Amino acid sequence: MTNATTTDGAVADRNVGHGLRVIGVSHHYSTKTGQVHALDNVSVDIKAGEFLAVVGPSGCGKSTLLDILAGLKVPSTGEASVDDRKIIGPSSTRSVVFQNSASLFPWLTVEENVAFGLKLKRVPRNEIARRVAVELDRVGLTDAAHLHPYELSGGMQQRCQIARVLAVDPDVLLLDEPFGAIDALTREILQQHLLDIWRMTHKTVVLITHSVDEAILLGTRVIVMSPRPGRIVHEISAPFANSGANAAEIRKLPEFTAASSELRTLILNDSPSRNSNT
Ligand code: ADP
Ligand code: MG
Repeated sequence: MTNATTTDGAVADRNVGHGLRVIGVSHHYSTKTGQVHALDNVSVDIKAGEFLAVVGPSGCGKSTLLDILAGLKVPSTGEASVDDRKIIGPSSTRSVVFQNSASLFPWLTVEENVAFGLKLKRVPRNEIARRVAVELDRVGLTDAAHLHPYELSGGMQQRCQIARVLAVDPDVLLLDEPFGAIDALTREILQQHLLDIWRMTHKTVVLITHSVDEAILLGTRVIVMSPRPGRIVHEISAPFANSGANAAEIRKLPEFTAASSELRTLILNDSPSRNSNT
């Protein structure tokens, strides 16, 4: 492992040693009305340092897949592994931004929530204060530092979660529609931030998104899942994250528009209702 200094002075681990693998994973939920078949025989190899974007219709098992990679759910069949070791539970090296903000500690302020993981890692107090300030500034929550989660809007809670995860600088980022509830302008700032972090550190990232543009912009590879039970039905690679251009420049490229439209066509051709990819 070597270290790299980011533009804000934080030392980031340049550890590209965490590849993820999903092998023949199916998942069923038992409900009062019977079994829900959420995932069907999903296999995917996510190379160390890869940025994988996952798109697919609502309810197709994307969050289930991410929870399995996080070690929060055990698949009904098949297995997930990290560096060829079976995932048997959560690990601080794989951090999750959840689709909803229920993971924030309600009794802690925004600032304390962001500092929490750093305290667990016994980071020195001055460094905690510095990193918390950097991340809060980045997500636009400096003025909300002393508020509690219940005093925040859904989008602000989501930004707090993002700041908390990025502050601890995990090796693997598992992001479940992290920008879904965030206004368009802040979303663009956070997309650029994520792109900068990935380019700097080459963490392994799995990003679930319902935005085709976001998937193409940020992912080095995009997989498309079918309606439930979720299977991987398409896979395309995207060159933009690996280019030096910033997000605003990329969005203007004709190649970007073409790639986005190609992916949209693939998804629409799979969708019986033609509008279920939300
Ligand atoms: P996505 O993230 O793609 O919207 P999910 O992984 O959240 O999909 O859910 C996949 C399917 O499994 C959905 O039909 C959902 O209703 C069902 N499901 C998810 N979690 C549970 C659960 N804890 N109990 C029962 N069914 C669930
Ligand atoms: Mg989901």
